[in-house]
Amino acid sequence: MSRSSQGRGRSNPKQSRKDVSEAEITTDVVVVGAGVSGAFMAHALAKRFGKVVVVDRRPPAHGSTMASTAMLQFEIDTPLTELCEKIGSSKAARAWRRSWRATQSIAKLVDDERIRCGLRRADSLYLAGDSMGSRGLEKEIKARHRAGLPGEYLDARRLREIFAIDRTGAIFSPGAASADPVALTQGLLRSAVREGVSLYSPVEITNVMATPHGVILDTGKHFIEAKHAVFCTGYELLKGLPRKGTKITSSWAIASRPHAKRPRWLANTLVWEAADPYLYMRTTPDGRLIVGGEDEDIDLPSYRARSMAHKTARLIAKAKKLIPGMEFSLSRQWTGAFGESDDGLPIIDRVPDMPNCIAVMGFGGNGTIYSKIASEIVPTLLRGRPDKDADIFRFR
Ligand SMILES: Cc1cc2nc3c(=O)[nH]c(=O)nc-3n(C[C@H](O)[C@H](O)[C@H](O)COP(=O)(O)OP(=O)(O)OC[C@H]3O[C@@H](n4cnc5c(N)ncnc54)[C@H](O)[C@@H]3O)c2cc1C
Repeated sequence: MSRSSQGRGRSNPKQSRKDVSEAEITTDVVVVGAGVSGAFMAHALAKRFGKVVVVDRRPPAHGSTMASTAMLQFEIDTPLTELCEKIGSSKAARAWRRSWRATQSIAKLVDDERIRCGLRRADSLYLAGDSMGSRGLEKEIKARHRAGLPGEYLDARRLREIFAIDRTGAIFSPGAASADPVALTQGLLRSAVREGVSLYSPVEITNVMATPHGVILDTGKHFIEAKHAVFCTGYELLKGLPRKGTKITSSWAIASRPHAKRPRWLANTLVWEAADPYLYMRTTPDGRLIVGGEDEDIDLPSYRARSMAHKTARLIAKAKKLIPGMEFSLSRQWTGAFGESDDGLPIIDRVPDMPNCIAVMGFGGNGTIYSKIASEIVPTLLRGRPDKDADIFRFR
């Protein structure tokens, strides 16, 4: 290994991208992936480690981060009552509380770093659906309250009065937000680069070799030698990683033209439902409606593309049925791979047999929150210190 490279305070991640063929790299930590997970990670590691390098085979934020509708919710896809049954009530409550804290800390971080990503604080409305009715939601809100989490149960009458929505019940919670995921990622990377992180793209990691004191990553042309590697490769999972209890599915989303006709409350409320597949929606600062869902257990890009028109029609019809009087004039439609785990939790753990490598796999509808949690846990793990919640996010 020869020369080491270090960012020199340039503020634009595009301008600071380099060609790795210029030099081989030696570093303390290499982060693979410059999506929102890699960006939170780089930002968190920047101040704690001397040399941090981020590599990506695409430009930053061009993976699943680009497809994200960026509803930032502490509410995990797996209801707390269900998660209690799966992993025990103590761990489940810790997972939900950690998710709450991470959601609040994203908003604070964005404020502190003055990242211009259109972040807006919002409430969340979780509607009864075919996988959980009003009685289930009543139990769910009690479990959340026992875990110290906020929120209020609305019965069918109050739901109709306040939101004109016809469902058997809902949970209304504070503490959510929405943002532009690409701008958030770029802002975090810019800030990390200012702190001395080096960003290289396009650089593809083709092979990973563990050494007694670190790891060597092969880019096909050159090697990167690091004490630690953190893999934030999203759903493009590393070969050889255990995948038990996880699957890659497909999801679709659409956006309307700006200034769409919709009820006023929707401007600061994220809506989703206890259904499978679930429908969700939010608005943007320029008044577009974003609607997503229709997930299917199939991971085929050609199927995703082929189904676009049909899925778009279904999303529009479902959204209009849910919110009477809403108008939806289609502006954009897109689709992407989506990672799910049996318990709705991410994996943030050392890679088996590769002690200097950590994998971050942020499954679920609140993957961005998991990216933030990973950026809190991983620096602690790298320093050999315990994180009190790390046990919840191990390979299962
Ligand atoms: C339609 C849709 C809607 C969504 N909506 C939401 C939402 O509302 N809220 C929410 O929180 N989450 C949502 N998500 C999930 C969210 O998009 C993901 O949790 C998040 O973007 C994952 O970010 P990441 O950085 O881990 O992965 P990615 O953004 O996919 O980044 C991984 C990066 O790793 C790079 N990479 C992979 N392998 C290599 C390699 N070998 N060498 C070099 N680079 C490599 C890729 O090029 C990529 O840039 C949604 C997802 C989809 C598809």
